[in-house]
Amino acid sequence: SIGSMRPPCARSLPQQVACLRHNAAMQTSPTAPIVTRSPRGWALPGIPNLHSHAFQRAMAGLAERHGHPEDSFWTWRETMYAMAARFDPGLMQAVATQLYAEMLEAGYTSVCEFHYLHHAPDGSPYPLPDVMSLALLAAARATGIRITLLPVLYMRGGFDGRALGERQRRFGHDVESWLHLFDGLREHESDTVRIGCALHSLRAVPPEAMRAVLAGLPADARIHIHIAEQHAEVEECIAVRGARPVRWLLDNAEVDARWTLVHATHLDAGEVQGIARSGATVAICPTTEANLGDGLFPLRAHLEGDGEGAVGRWGIGSDSHASVSPVEELRWLEYGQRLATQRRNIARATGVASVGETLLRGVRASAADSTGFDDRDDHIVLDADAPILAGATEDDVVDRWIFSGNRPLVRDVTVAGVRVVEDGRHRYREAIATRYREAMRQLLA
Ligand code: ZN
Repeated sequence: SIGSMRPPCARSLPQQVACLRHNAAMQTSPTAPIVTRSPRGWALPGIPNLHSHAFQRAMAGLAERHGHPEDSFWTWRETMYAMAARFDPGLMQAVATQLYAEMLEAGYTSVCEFHYLHHAPDGSPYPLPDVMSLALLAAARATGIRITLLPVLYMRGGFDGRALGERQRRFGHDVESWLHLFDGLREHESDTVRIGCALHSLRAVPPEAMRAVLAGLPADARIHIHIAEQHAEVEECIAVRGARPVRWLLDNAEVDARWTLVHATHLDAGEVQGIARSGATVAICPTTEANLGDGLFPLRAHLEGDGEGAVGRWGIGSDSHASVSPVEELRWLEYGQRLATQRRNIARATGVASVGETLLRGVRASAADSTGFDDRDDHIVLDADAPILAGATEDDVVDRWIFSGNRPLVRDVTVAGVRVVEDGRHRYREAIATRYREAMRQLLA
């Protein structure tokens, strides 16, 4: 009954305090403290951004007008394609540099760039075929963010195997040319650069091509894939391949901790259990999934896992960059669940009472497997002098950061030993923004 579902401490204030003390006594520290007091404020680990299409930063806020009575992901995609057609390597670098500086200022310290804008607008390779990838690496280097660059294999226009449409041609590779691109980019790996593999989606990569690419990858390569974002994609996959997308993938690839499943919004119970057992990470992109009307990821079931001890792993991505804020992604990840379930405090983990800390530990637990980095020494510092953090303690500062107010609280950001954001500002903020404004003038002309 509803009555029995009510938490026992939702009564009088003295009873609540007693209950909180009781809960605190029951807790065991799952690992080392995740937040510490430093001379410049509250130090937290950096947040990995597991999913980005940098060029889409330029169209954030420009697809919010009625265009069709049934506006959806698929009509938004037309606007996105029109914007994509205008990019060249210089514009890509300018937009990505602005975006990555914004990410750092918000507290993201690494980005998984899911990159498919490879060729010239007519689909022909540039004289330097990897020049768009190099533009993204240059943007990361200029800002100091860690980048896991994921060149995307994109081969078909749909599950039926149709050729790429006119505006998709600049995304395309065959298996051989993709592996050549991948091998060349691997030479750029460094302390702050990783090269991984992205399969655009099941609809864009035929089964035999998927197997060939996976067989050609080094054992340590990370693999990311868009999956089960939209109902139409689920229905087509069932019709053509005889199974739902996540089920098909689990049955046809050795999905393990090297894999990141992007969105995985539409899952049945067996798929939820299968993902938990695989060890793969789900990259949830709450603000983009909301903006595009994708649906709500089943977080509660994912965290419960297979019921036999395997729990779902997850992280967040800013994807289309309608928002560039880990606070907003984490806040809305939790709020979406509260609205859907009419309950509070959905994100739960054994031994942690704080929802914010549970969320922060969740994104940290998958970080190395999804990005390929050991980034344990990266950190962000929250401004302890901000009024909204007055009286904060180790036990509540993460909850305050994620669940109160809108003023940015990130004061400093340090990546690979370099302080790239100080007093809330990226060290090259003005120069980067000047170049970005010029790029936007060209893109919108
Ligand atoms: Zn995406």
